[in-house]
Amino acid sequence: MGSDFFGEIDPPQRLLMGPGPANVHPRVLRAMSADVLGQFDPEMTDYMNQTMALYRQVFMTRNRWTFLIDGTARAGIEAALTSLIEPGARVLILRGGRFGMLLSEIAERLDADIRTVDLEWGEVATLAQIEAGLAEHRPAVFAAIHGDTSTTTAQPLDGVGALCAAYGAMSYVDATATLGGMPVETDKWGIDVVSAGLQKCMGGPPGCAPITISDRAANFMAARRKVESGIRRADIADGDRPFIRSNYFDLSMIMDYWSEKRLNHHTEATSMLYGARECARVLLQEGLPARFERHARCGAAMTEGLREMGLEVYGQDAYRMTNVTGVYIPASIDGERVRRRMREDYQIEIGTAFGPLAGKIWRIGAMGYNAEMDKVRRTLDALRLTLAQEGFVPDQARP
Ligand SMILES: *Cc1c(COP(=O)(O)O)cnc(C)c1O
Repeated sequence: MGSDFFGEIDPPQRLLMGPGPANVHPRVLRAMSADVLGQFDPEMTDYMNQTMALYRQVFMTRNRWTFLIDGTARAGIEAALTSLIEPGARVLILRGGRFGMLLSEIAERLDADIRTVDLEWGEVATLAQIEAGLAEHRPAVFAAIHGDTSTTTAQPLDGVGALCAAYGAMSYVDATATLGGMPVETDKWGIDVVSAGLQKCMGGPPGCAPITISDRAANFMAARRKVESGIRRADIADGDRPFIRSNYFDLSMIMDYWSEKRLNHHTEATSMLYGARECARVLLQEGLPARFERHARCGAAMTEGLREMGLEVYGQDAYRMTNVTGVYIPASIDGERVRRRMREDYQIEIGTAFGPLAGKIWRIGAMGYNAEMDKVRRTLDALRLTLAQEGFVPDQARP
């Protein structure tokens, strides 16, 4: 056998302490190795229904339409926005980091009339600021990020759904980085559509986007269902809405697939569904409050440990995500060299940063299966030793 067969997949045992992905829970890896079923096999459709019931608990919602989008977290964002935003519709986007920018990038492709509430990176909006934006722009859709890993900042969302409803806007939130790590209170917040991923705090791999949709939003999307190739509903029935401009991300069709009708759309990604189902089971067996407390404890220990080392932690304590911490790279230190030494000498991955924070901070996560005190300590110890070897003197830390 020649070298063109390459080797069997046998990755090194890295500890992934960046902003995601994090290491996958072994139970999830085992579930994903189970045999594949036919998509309409009653065992398979039972698993699909169980997954919906489990994710209602994870999203803290009674929404009937709570299921999985096959694709990474970005697929969940794109499905939500594509199904909510009609061509030309006005959209108000809260932007305070890289993922807020992604929302407007996607909305732009949908020919939306984009308005923004722009914040400094790392800042959060007050309810009054959001209300002022809604009052000024009267958008059809409001979109925001819950925890933006690019800035390690969590936007408070209590009261936001009710405000949007009062101004006649549908609300969308990307909770990719917080689901399973910080409370994502879909019904209490009154958000119409929330989507996420598995590779941050859910303890799963990238490649699956859990989503939940209110009846109000589901009815709106159903009115955008495309009836026949080339014919818009609007052309055959007055008052109906322009159809959804994507087949793969058409949530009205995907809801039909997850309903009792079982109208085939795609083939549900069977192994990924097994994994997503197990992520939720692991989480709910631990319990939501215990899960959030574990992330909060590890986040606090990380922040404290970094400060004890003489490093400056990025962002505001009041709005810090509990599962990822930004820390300034000291002026005398080569940030990328430290990341490489952490990986090569200690098998630990920490994160770099984007945009205005590129080269300025590292992002260190403790997410899902990795939100454990021993892993926090291992990471802090390795960073302390690496910085000492790089000649770091604490009072040279950038204020
Ligand atoms: C990681 C992340 C994403 C992107 O997820 P993919 O699975 O890479 O598509 C989207 N939004 C937020 C807030 C994230 O942290």
